[in-house]
Amino acid sequence: MSLPALSAVPVHSRLPAWMGKAPLVLVPAFVLLAATLAALGAYSLTWERQVARLERAAIPRLERFAIQLFAPPRRYTYLPHLLANDRTLRNALAQPHKPGLVHDANLHLARMRASTGATELYVLDSGGTAIAASNWRDPISFVGVNYAYRPYYSRAVAEGGAHFYAMGTTSHRPGFFLSQQVKAADGALLGVAVVKADLTMPEVHDYGGEVLVTDAGGVAFLSSREDWQYRPLAALSARAGASVARTRQYDGVLRAPLDVHTGRTLDSGATIVDIGGHGSYLMVRRPVPETDWHVNLLLPLDEVKGTALGAALLAAAAIALAALSLLYLWQFRLRQAERERSRAALEEAHAALARQHETLTALSEELRVQSSTDSLTGLFNRRYFMDSLERLLDTAQRHGEPLALMLVDADHFKRVNDEHGHPAGDEVLRRLGAMLLEETRDGDVAARYGGEEFIVALPRTDAPAALAVAGRMLARMRAMRVPVDGGTLTVTVSIGLAAARPGEAVAEIIRRADAALYEAKRGGRDQAVFDAATAP
Ligand code: GH3
Ligand code: MG
Ligand code: MG
Repeated sequence: MSLPALSAVPVHSRLPAWMGKAPLVLVPAFVLLAATLAALGAYSLTWERQVARLERAAIPRLERFAIQLFAPPRRYTYLPHLLANDRTLRNALAQPHKPGLVHDANLHLARMRASTGATELYVLDSGGTAIAASNWRDPISFVGVNYAYRPYYSRAVAEGGAHFYAMGTTSHRPGFFLSQQVKAADGALLGVAVVKADLTMPEVHDYGGEVLVTDAGGVAFLSSREDWQYRPLAALSARAGASVARTRQYDGVLRAPLDVHTGRTLDSGATIVDIGGHGSYLMVRRPVPETDWHVNLLLPLDEVKGTALGAALLAAAAIALAALSLLYLWQFRLRQAERERSRAALEEAHAALARQHETLTALSEELRVQSSTDSLTGLFNRRYFMDSLERLLDTAQRHGEPLALMLVDADHFKRVNDEHGHPAGDEVLRRLGAMLLEETRDGDVAARYGGEEFIVALPRTDAPAALAVAGRMLARMRAMRVPVDGGTLTVTVSIGLAAARPGEAVAEIIRRADAALYEAKRGGRDQAVFDAATAP
């Protein structure tokens, strides 16, 4: 019988196939890349959405701005007609060479200005020169200035009246110019009456940014920031520069251009601009109706950038967290599988041990039986018998009980082998052994003593009883028919007996039984002889 081997179970972590190819150090690189891409994506997405939101909010404000800008001056649309039909003014226009009439006109205009709240009121003669004005006493009075180049003059002459928004060339203040031609009773042109209403910056503190109104040349003449007023958004073109110089429109107030760097232009037309020293803005601009101006709303992008940056960080963190979770989950499952395998291996090892233990137990039992048993007859062997006899004799002597010993030897056994073969002899020995077991009782010990000789210890058996047992055995042998090559065979036995004596050694009682056996042989065999010293 061979022992089952305690197999070594291989315990090693199993990586996914792709992991085997890509070194593990690439995992953080992948995570970093994914986090970076997510951050970039989140940044640009958030940025676009925030900018679009800003722009959406800007458009109605820009529209409202134009209305608010023009609301105050529109109150004066009636005033030019009133001036054109005023007798004092008409008189002065009809006879401008009369200082008294002109003086009356000046006083009249100044009075009317005070009562209407208009910025300035003045009348131009048929050639476009102001002959009387509400500011006739001011150092920058319009009186004597020719405004023939102004569209409010030319259009009034051609069409009867005009509305015109422009920078004041004399006052440098933006204004709404309303004009009306003045005609004599015969239809001849006497001149043009003009009302100028100042434009002031409407309230824009809730616009979320800076508001600039720029003229055709790009000069911001109205601004929510005072330090940006009268500054061009870019260096003036040669033409615009020449025009400003010619008309002296911003004489003395024009400042250096704003340091505007125009960046990306969005689909909507809005642009990202960077104003040197002031940061990034989303610039949304609209033309101001009825003018060649633009209103520009500059919305700071700092907050948008902050929000986009926050979104980017959040996305990167989310990716990193997801990657970490996945890694943890993967590790967890790996460890779990590892534990499962270890447990299975342990169980298997345990089972193998148990099997080995069983085998060993069976083996040792077999060895024990083998070491005490004769393999041919199944009776005890000589060694075991000697040990047993030692104990039995000791017990018998201690308790004063009888003990008989019997040596049984097959007669002429050599002949059996010679005539019928060794296997036949073996069969005889087996049957002889079986018979001995049958004829003895529990507590008796029958053993093969060697060759064709057997020995039986009979505790608590006195000489007569032992002799009776021997007698039965002789009879059994005589009656036994052992089948051999077609026929049968009968073998007799000779038996030598001895009864134990107090204090006697094992060797001594065996010697006496052996002597008795010898006597039985000598006496003709097939008989039992009791040792003379202990015979019944
Ligand atoms: P005696 O009547 O005087 O005892 O004569 P014997 O022939 O029986 O005695 P001997 O001692 O001369 O021969 C014993 C024979 O028993 C010799 C041996 O071959 C045979 N023998 C011993 N052990 C075995 C065995 O296990 N099997 C077989 N078949 N024969 C055995
Ligand atoms: Mg013999
Ligand atoms: Mg013999």
